[in-house]
Amino acid sequence: MSGEPFKVWQCRTCGYIYDEAAGDPVEGLAPGTRWSEIPADWICPMCGTPKADFDMIEL
Ligand SMILES: [Zn+2]
Repeated sequence: MSGEPFKVWQCRTCGYIYDEAAGDPVEGLAPGTRWSEIPADWICPMCGTPKADFDMIEL
């Protein structure tokens, strides 16, 4: 544990949620994968929006 709270990111286009705590195993992202660890060329699995167009959100 790094002590850093997990964050949640949302696609601006379709509303897809990426929760660092949950990851997205279907996309090959293990639970606990930080946003910063996801490749820069990763795109939204729902609509193809670039990673750069996601916003961090507060739940
Ligand atoms: Zn999307």
